[in-house]
Amino acid sequence: MLPVYWPLLKGGSYDNNKKSYGLFYNSPLFYHSPSYAGRDRQARQASSEGLGSAQPRCSWVCERTALHTWVFPSAAPVGQKNRNIYDNKNQGGEPPTGTLVRKEGDPASGDAAVDEAYDGTGATYDLYFDIYKRNSIDDKGMPLISYVHYDVNFDNAFWDGSEMVYGDGDPDIFERFTKAIDVTGHELTHGVTQYEANLAYSNQPGALNESMSDVFGSLVKQRVLNQTADQADWIIGAGLFKPTINGVGIRSMKAPGTAYDDPLLGKDPQPAHMKDYVKTSRDNGGVHINSGIPNHAFYLAAAEIGGYAWEKAGNIWYIALRDYLRSKSNFKKAATTTISVAKELYGEGSKEQKAVQNAWKAVGVLS
Ligand SMILES: [Zn+2]
Repeated sequence: MLPVYWPLLKGGSYDNNKKSYGLFYNSPLFYHSPSYAGRDRQARQASSEGLGSAQPRCSWVCERTALHTWVFPSAAPVGQKNRNIYDNKNQGGEPPTGTLVRKEGDPASGDAAVDEAYDGTGATYDLYFDIYKRNSIDDKGMPLISYVHYDVNFDNAFWDGSEMVYGDGDPDIFERFTKAIDVTGHELTHGVTQYEANLAYSNQPGALNESMSDVFGSLVKQRVLNQTADQADWIIGAGLFKPTINGVGIRSMKAPGTAYDDPLLGKDPQPAHMKDYVKTSRDNGGVHINSGIPNHAFYLAAAEIGGYAWEKAGNIWYIALRDYLRSKSNFKKAATTTISVAKELYGEGSKEQKAVQNAWKAVGVLS
C-alpha cells in the first residue's frame, strides 16, 4: 500500500513557500519539494535576457548545492526551440545534476526517456508557438531544460521553477513519466502559469494552476494525435500505470473521479462538481483533487464548441491565463473571466460564449 500521506507519516510538514509542482497527488514522493527556488529568479533573469551562460550570483542555495553546475543556455530566437535534456543517472539531488545528453538538433539518443522528453517539450513548444504565438515558457525563448532518470524509484514528474524533472517510475505502479506526452505539457504549463497568472499553489488558485497544466497538457497530446474534442480520451497520463494497475491514467477531465480504482493506489479522489469540493489541508488544499472541477468545465466547454479543442476553448483559456487571472484568482474568477474572453473573441451571445457559460454552470461554479 502506498503511503498516501507520506509527509504526515514521516512527521514532517511541507512548506508552501517551497515551490514544486508535482504531477500526481497519491504519490509517495509527491511532496518532494526542492528548496532551491531562490535561484529560479536568477535563472530566469539569465535566460530571458539572453545572457547565455551567465553565472548567477551565489546565494545560500548555492552553498547548499555546491556541486551543481550552473548552465543557462542562451534564449532561442522567436520560433526556434532550444531543448536540452540532461541525464540525472538516478542521482536525485536538489537541484538535480546531470550530464547533457541531447541538445537541440541532435539525433535521437536511443534512450527512450531522453527522446520522449525531447519530443514532448518540442510538441509543447509547438502548441504554444503555433497556436498561441507564445515563444516558449516565458515568451522570450527560454530554453527547455529537462532532467530524466531522476532519483531511484521516483514516482512523479515536476517543474521546479526553472526546469522539468522526470522519474523512472517503480517496479509495481508507474512506468517512466516521459511516456505520457501530456505530462510533459502539464509540467511546462506550470512554467507558463508561473510567468503569467502566477496562480498561488494552494486551495482554489492552486487547483486552477493544476487544471491549467492538465488543460494544455491534454491539448498538446490532442494536437499531436490530431484529435477533435469528441475523439480525445481526455485522460491525463494514459500509459503511465503498469498493466497490473486498475486504471486508465492519473486523472480524467471527461469523468473526474474515474481514472483509477486500485488496491495499491486507492480511488481517484477528483470531484467533477462544486457540491463534491474536497476541503482538506492535504495536497496544498487539494490542488490535485479539486482541479477536477475546472478540468471538467474545460472539457464541457470544448465538447460543446466542437472541433479541435486547442483552437477555441484553448484560446479562451490561454488568454484568460495570460491576461486576466492573477495569483489569488478562484474558480468563480476563472468562470467569469473565460466567459468574458469568449465574448471578446467570438462575440456576445456567441456559441462559444454560451458553451463556456454552460460549462461553469454544469460544474456548479456558477448558478
Ligand atoms: Zn502539476
